[in-house]
Amino acid sequence: MAEIRVRTSKKYQVLDLTPQVTEVVRNSRVSDGICCVYTPHATAAIVINESDDPQIGLDLLDVLDKLIPEGVWRHDRIDRNGAAHLKAAILGPSKVIPIQQSRLALGTWQAVMLVELDGPRDRKIIVTIVKHTSGEPC
Ligand code: ZN
Repeated sequence: MAEIRVRTSKKYQVLDLTPQVTEVVRNSRVSDGICCVYTPHATAAIVINESDDPQIGLDLLDVLDKLIPEGVWRHDRIDRNGAAHLKAAILGPSKVIPIQQSRLALGTWQAVMLVELDGPRDRKIIVTIVKHTSGEPC
């Protein structure tokens, strides 16, 4: 298990974690297994999508804004970030990626990204690697 820590700089932001997660996989020396990327926060999420075109991350934030307006939720009476919680709940806090031949089995255009929904904040990402040991498919 490894931890990645990042400091986000905006209220809404999509950060590519692929280089850091790839480094954790490399250091694990696991050639066949799974990699879980998880963030223990209620207003951030982990997604897998394209990062080569950063407009996609902005489009993701835009569609979330269209689906989930700000300032109309019961939780807003407590700390005014109800929309951030709902967006994070829909996206989810984790993703699992196969490790094949010592590499993350990401597609050519896929990246693992943190979605900040209530920044700027310090965020922690926990990366857990599980080695496949039986010789049979999981
Ligand atoms: Zn809250």
